[in-house]
Amino acid sequence: MTGAERAGVTRGGNMETMKLSEAIRMNGMMKPQGFGDYSIGSIEAPCAIGGALQSVGLQDCLQIGMNYMIVTDVWPWLKLPVSCPVTDCYCGGIQVQAISLIYHLNDQHRWTRAQIADWVELHEPIGDLNDAASADCVSLPLR
Ligand SMILES: [Zn+2]
Repeated sequence: MTGAERAGVTRGGNMETMKLSEAIRMNGMMKPQGFGDYSIGSIEAPCAIGGALQSVGLQDCLQIGMNYMIVTDVWPWLKLPVSCPVTDCYCGGIQVQAISLIYHLNDQHRWTRAQIADWVELHEPIGDLNDAASADCVSLPLR
């Protein structure tokens, strides 16, 4: 069972009609930004990812670890490798999964949700989100 299924949502529903950048931006206009591990499950002050899940009604505030699974079910392209866009970042530009980079931009660089959404827009699949779902099939070294 996937995280999204556990949350009572099936593929093809409304959750796939919103792009991640839109979901982050929308929550950024409504809630103060949170930082750190627990902000993914915070209702009052979520991080970029927790806020995006709020936007699509899928944030799990009780078992916050579930949010990591749910968010990559909803936006599978978050498993693809990217590197930190910040010049001279201590990470040295190593490739990490996009989901990890969004936490990194949120927690380490303290980017605003608007800044993160701008970056996400450059990397998320364009157009029909069925394309995003097919990212599951792309064979890449993710670990
Ligand atoms: Zn960085």
